[in-house]
Amino acid sequence: MTLVFSGHSFRYELEAVCKLFFPVVSFSFATDGEAIPDPNGDIIFLTRSISGERAELSIRSRVSGSELKKSASVPLDDPDYEHSCELGLCRLLFECLREQTKITPGWGMLTGVRPVKLISRLRASGLSDSEIAELMDKRYFVSAEKVCLACATAANQEKVILNMPPKSVSLYVSIPFCPSRCSYCSFVSQTVRSFYKLIPDYLDRLCDELRFTAQTVRSLGLTLDTVYFGGGTPTSLEADQLLRIMNVINDSFDLSALREYTVEAGRPDTVTPEKLRVIHKNGGDRVSVNPQTMSDSVLEAIGRKHTVAQFLDAYLLAKSEGFKAVNVDLIAGLPKDSFGGFCDSLDRVIGLNPENITVHALSIKRAADLMHTGGEDLGGSQVSEMIAYSERVLSDCGYSPYYLYRQKNQLGNQENVGWEKGGNVGIYNVNMMEEIQTVLAVGAGASTKTVASENNIKRFYNPKYPLEYLKRFDETVIPRKKEAEAALAAILEGRA
Ligand code: SF4
Repeated sequence: MTLVFSGHSFRYELEAVCKLFFPVVSFSFATDGEAIPDPNGDIIFLTRSISGERAELSIRSRVSGSELKKSASVPLDDPDYEHSCELGLCRLLFECLREQTKITPGWGMLTGVRPVKLISRLRASGLSDSEIAELMDKRYFVSAEKVCLACATAANQEKVILNMPPKSVSLYVSIPFCPSRCSYCSFVSQTVRSFYKLIPDYLDRLCDELRFTAQTVRSLGLTLDTVYFGGGTPTSLEADQLLRIMNVINDSFDLSALREYTVEAGRPDTVTPEKLRVIHKNGGDRVSVNPQTMSDSVLEAIGRKHTVAQFLDAYLLAKSEGFKAVNVDLIAGLPKDSFGGFCDSLDRVIGLNPENITVHALSIKRAADLMHTGGEDLGGSQVSEMIAYSERVLSDCGYSPYYLYRQKNQLGNQENVGWEKGGNVGIYNVNMMEEIQTVLAVGAGASTKTVASENNIKRFYNPKYPLEYLKRFDETVIPRKKEAEAALAAILEGRA
């Protein structure tokens, strides 16, 4: 598809709108007067010209043989002239493509990762949810269902934010190892088998970094709000290895104000009673056990080396251990899955009554990787139906959304949503996703994020891979920790 621009430089925004309708199409670009690479193919002319006191915006779109024209205008003395022109052209393009493709993206033209941030700002400005719905439709074509979802999410988050201790931070512990690699995964985790030898050294350095971080928290008078072990699969470690890390945390940090302590036990094939006991006895109060689907044939198709029966065993073990909350992840859009199959997975998971259920829409990048390795059956409209079903059924069953984010190129232009029941909001997820609190992160692939305000966030990256982390610990990890500490001190002293 070719996009031809004239009289403006809104290429990035207009291409983003096109991608909502044509996520896997590659685009060529031309400016007016240049040779058009494929003049007989799909082509869209996007023009701004001046006529008297107004800018005339026009779109001429030819897609799959259907032709459509739309136009609008903006006064030259508009106080936000460039932005009004950009938004005007995006809206015209969206309307054209919606008509021509018969696709209605639920999030309309909103392409940001964190739509709830925008909704929260509007709520804080005093707008009612119905006023927000009207504005989001008028401005961005967001559906009433998605606005309702985002408003409910924002309302749930407000309680978490209100109860956040002053001068508080969260701690993220990265365990970038997995028992084997799932075929849809784009994460940089290493399989335990091939990197087994690295683990003792990795734990040594990780504990050093934890002690350093605890010293920062103490010296700056900060309060630790949440702890989150993520990966990879933290329960890839043995029980004694988990115990060692948790002991260092217990010995080095003041956990008296902690509101949540999560350990991801993502892969059911790594869960044992001993590991769960160690986690629970040493402060962990929330675990995540993730089947992704309740179909053995889909599990096989995505290369997740466990069965539904193993998930059920692991889940019941976690419940019987007495954690305050257990989260279960599902993915919509997996290869070999179907609408009926996804609904069945969700219904069965709801039947288990976990405190948290997180529903992800598969990203196209991952889907594309799967396609290269023989995956199939991927379709955006089907994923949209799955997500709509999940939102309807989870609400009906007493769950409410507490965090929501979008990734680039998700199938059906959908989103990932964390749902909770009984007031069990996953606090770390809210803090991290809405970027409302500093996260001190340790381990390979982890990034510390210091938050001074919404528009003043700094990131300090650790080396991505365990081997690199070990080799560059002294020259990279500790210096970056010191930089993050200085940034935090500046925030606390009002200098940031
Ligand atoms: S368990 Fe999770 S992090 Fe590990 S390979 Fe599978 S999807 Fe990736």
